[in-house]
Amino acid sequence: MGFYCKKKAPASKGAELKKKLDRVFSQYIRLRDMLPGTTLFRCISCNKVYPIGEADCGHYINRKHMSTRFSEVNCHAQCRQCNRFDEGNMSGYRLGLVRMYGETRVAYLEAQKYETRKYGDYEYEELIRHYKKEIARMLEERGEKITVLSKKIGVKI
Ligand SMILES: [Zn+2]
Repeated sequence: MGFYCKKKAPASKGAELKKKLDRVFSQYIRLRDMLPGTTLFRCISCNKVYPIGEADCGHYINRKHMSTRFSEVNCHAQCRQCNRFDEGNMSGYRLGLVRMYGETRVAYLEAQKYETRKYGDYEYEELIRHYKKEIARMLEERGEKITVLSKKIGVKI
């Protein structure tokens, strides 16, 4: 029996902000990758087209690496088959990235993985604000609502 009574520490503000940024950033990436004039997306890894409501925000370099967790080059709309059942379909993901950004940019991203990156609360708050604004802008431009990301319906009529 321990002498000290340890209370479980409440989740820190940083952890809460990180979670919030994860959610907002994922919404941003999926909206960004919606094909123009549709509510569809093309999976970065398998190149197939699906309704945006079935997209995940897939990380090329695992999201445990903070240096690339919120990189717009590292994250793309990905189908659930690739993201959840095919361990991210990494060879397909890399091909998709090279097609989009070129080999040099992808190699740079891969090197970035080993950098140390820490976010302060203020930075999180700024990024959340930034991406919320971007989301609102994209939704307005496309005449869509955020629920488009949870709908299963495909082509807009
Ligand atoms: Zn896929």
